[in-house]
Amino acid sequence: MTSTRTAGQPSVPTAPNGPVGVALLGATGSIGTSALRVLERQPERFVPVALTANGNIAALTEQVARFAPAYVGLVQECADAPDAWGRGPGCLVEAATHPDAQVVINAVVGAAGLPATLAALRLGKRVALANKESLVVAGEIVTRTAREHGGALVPVDSEHSAILQCLAGRQPHEVKRLILTASGGPFRTWPADKIGHATRADALKHPTWQMGSKITIDSATLANKALEVIEAHHLFGVAYDRIEVVVHPQSIIHSFVEFVDGSVLAQMGVPSMELPILYALTWPERVPDNGVPSFEPVAHGALTFEPVRHDDFPMLGLGISAGRAGGAAPAVFNAANEVAVAQFLDGRLSFGGIAERVSAALCDLSALPGDSLDALLAADAAARAHVLSRTATES
Ligand code: NAD
Ligand code: MG
Repeated sequence: MTSTRTAGQPSVPTAPNGPVGVALLGATGSIGTSALRVLERQPERFVPVALTANGNIAALTEQVARFAPAYVGLVQECADAPDAWGRGPGCLVEAATHPDAQVVINAVVGAAGLPATLAALRLGKRVALANKESLVVAGEIVTRTAREHGGALVPVDSEHSAILQCLAGRQPHEVKRLILTASGGPFRTWPADKIGHATRADALKHPTWQMGSKITIDSATLANKALEVIEAHHLFGVAYDRIEVVVHPQSIIHSFVEFVDGSVLAQMGVPSMELPILYALTWPERVPDNGVPSFEPVAHGALTFEPVRHDDFPMLGLGISAGRAGGAAPAVFNAANEVAVAQFLDGRLSFGGIAERVSAALCDLSALPGDSLDALLAADAAARAHVLSRTATES
């Protein structure tokens, strides 16, 4: 295991004259808006220089008025967008490679974030990565690009930020096991026969985190934890049989690292993405910040742990198996899941149908070639078409 993979460049980015420029991709989302709150509290250290959004022009316009970034990009076509803005999917790469940006926060949802992650790493920038799908689709290519070009890939995901904080300064041979915590989602205590029929409203009620709709559904199916196991494998270079998952409903312990002498370190705090976002910007240093409420042990009371109900939440096992299989399988898992979740959110697929669609796509497509970026993108496209055609046939 190489904790130094994440630590491509363990130095805090600096700009010669003033704050470090930050490109924020997915600025209007849950992570994006949290990131802007963090940046606003740290004006001497960081300044947003590029902002992108998918289609929320109203929110983006407000952000542009507040932060006056040098670059603005909107992915979807919109007649009202100012001519000066970048347009279409290419705007993510334009923002990520903007010369004023030393750091890129990738807070886009889905595999759509991958080209920008790679483009920023090719220029040796620091990528504060919320877009875990980049690593799931093309983990080996992304980590190799970071190493070869001196870029740093620093996780925003709270579990991975916790692991990074616990690993601080330790050598690969000192680490025995990573234990990722999972809240268990809204269906943690539901009987098995009810889960498959859960409604959209049920699935969007996450017990501990306020997040975008795709990751909220992924948390309900536990697909999110599978994506995170694959993410941890690539970020920290730890074999799959040394990465475990435990359910921790309070979401106070964000993950554990067990060392070879039996000592276990955990990182904890009230659930807020603002701390991992800030740490991804300042790692390996810590800077004063007052954005996250203090953790009060007595007020929180008991911290509890439970095993995962693998049989009732098949997406976790499916995703970890895809990660272990490697090649195109993780890209197929991710793409099939993205489409199935969108169909569930649109009322075209049942909650139980998500795992059925993903399982069928993995059965048919896992063996596709996955040895190049083009091959992985082709597998991603094939998995999307697979799920779309199944649902079209049934409706
Ligand atoms: P969100 O849906 O709230 O926001 C997504 C952002 O990406 C929006 O700004 C949207 O405009 C943009 N976007 C959506 N589709 C796009 C596309 N095809 N091309 C370009 N831009 C697009 O999502 P979120 O909850 O902020 O999650 C963002 C990423 O962070 C996801 O990968 C998620 O797994 C990860 N993450 C989120 C949280 C959280 O607490 N929200 C925690 C850990 C990791
Ligand atoms: Mg997470």
